[in-house]
Amino acid sequence: VSEVATMMDVPVTNIISACMSLGMMVTMNQRLDAETLSIVAEEFNYTVEFVGAEVEEAIAEVEDNPEDLETRAPIITVMGHVDHGKTSLLDYIREANVIAGESGGITQHIGAYSVEVEGGQRIAFLDTPGHEAFTAMRARGAQVTDLVIIVIAADDDVMPQTKEAISHAQAAGVPIIFAINKVDKPNANPDKIKEQLANMNLLVEDWGGSIQSQDISAKTGQGVDELLEKVLLEAEVLELKANPTKNAVGTVVEALLDKGRGYVSTILVQAGTLRIGDYLLAGKHSGKVRAMFDERGNNLKEAGPSTPVSILGLDGAPQAGDKFNVFDDEREAKQIATKRSQLQREQSVRTQKTLTLDEIGRRIALGDFKELNIILKGDVDGSVEALTDSFQKLSTEEIQVNILHKGVGAITESDVLLASASDAIIVGFNVRPQGNARTVADKEEVDIRTYSIIYDAINDLKDAMEGLLSPEM
Ligand code: GDP
Repeated sequence: VSEVATMMDVPVTNIISACMSLGMMVTMNQRLDAETLSIVAEEFNYTVEFVGAEVEEAIAEVEDNPEDLETRAPIITVMGHVDHGKTSLLDYIREANVIAGESGGITQHIGAYSVEVEGGQRIAFLDTPGHEAFTAMRARGAQVTDLVIIVIAADDDVMPQTKEAISHAQAAGVPIIFAINKVDKPNANPDKIKEQLANMNLLVEDWGGSIQSQDISAKTGQGVDELLEKVLLEAEVLELKANPTKNAVGTVVEALLDKGRGYVSTILVQAGTLRIGDYLLAGKHSGKVRAMFDERGNNLKEAGPSTPVSILGLDGAPQAGDKFNVFDDEREAKQIATKRSQLQREQSVRTQKTLTLDEIGRRIALGDFKELNIILKGDVDGSVEALTDSFQKLSTEEIQVNILHKGVGAITESDVLLASASDAIIVGFNVRPQGNARTVADKEEVDIRTYSIIYDAINDLKDAMEGLLSPEM
């Protein structure tokens, strides 16, 4: 939003109200889709030309032959209020449904896993619970989830985050299944939850509605098999199909730099089949797939539709939500990756220059405006995106939260210098300052805060912002 405002040299608020008249509430840091951009630009007598579109045309998807399509496993995201049992449910399902023939290695969190339920049917789960990751992926145009399980604790109520999760699923047009959890607890009252849902016009099946729900205990496992059966039933209705015979395409779930193994990326194959030796293009990175494994560390030779795999061989860490494609020619994959990096560099030069201009305009327009600048570094892209999303949501009328820079990796001297130059604080998630960064930060009096729990980071920032608020008159 702010970028297009500076490109057209109009105040950000004009763009925001133009979007509002289209029925969209946006913030200045929000991404607009191509269609909205075009409509908004037209209002100000500009025409939008999408540079880089020709690069993407090279990988445009060919329509599948109907007889090549086969049923594929559903891909599930689990959402719900904090402490209602998302992680417990994901862990329980993973442990209780090891795919036949798999050795029981130590499970690693790789961001996604798949299980085989009774009857041999497979279900894939995105193992990053919460709607932050879901929304961040969607903001990047990645629609990977077929079904959402919303966990609600039966000893609690439908909570704010439950409602948020419901809105996110509905906005994405993804069907919901409710898992009413913790029914093993003596004070559990699943009917109360169903009543609260009914009051929100969400009628579950027991209440004569069409939304599936299942009482479960993620602790004892009660009802979990039935929940998975309902997932499969709902999936059947969706008639999920993919062509397994072509080159693989899909989405990046998360990526990190492992000291011993190099860049490790978890990707979800959505169609086609990925094989060792394939030339892969993922976002701005490319490489030959050297090895593939699942969350138990088992080596895989190939991965078909709806299979999450970790791969080695990319020359960098792509971002969560980046699409990936396979090329027959290594050079072509590399060329497109280079072209994309170039385009992004040009774009960021443009934004930086314009951001300062924008800044001046905004300060004048808003008079008493205050802002909190943040440089955000994290160990994996998923958490960086999730934090970006949550931080930006903290913006109020008085204080604007700006993420000046974000990335995967340790906090470097250059991060500190950027922070010092722009009055920013640095937030590190599961990463620490490296090399000279700490010394320089002390000298420049730059505030570095490191966290390993997302909620702690968000709460601290909230507190800091309250401290920044001007006293009420
Ligand atoms: P999340 O924040 O939604 O991921 O919630 P967690 O999975 O971390 O669960 C929060 C707390 O509730 C943990 O202490 C769990 O052990 C507990 N818990 C989760 N599911 C159940 C359940 O079915 N029964 C009981 N008694 N406790 C549960």
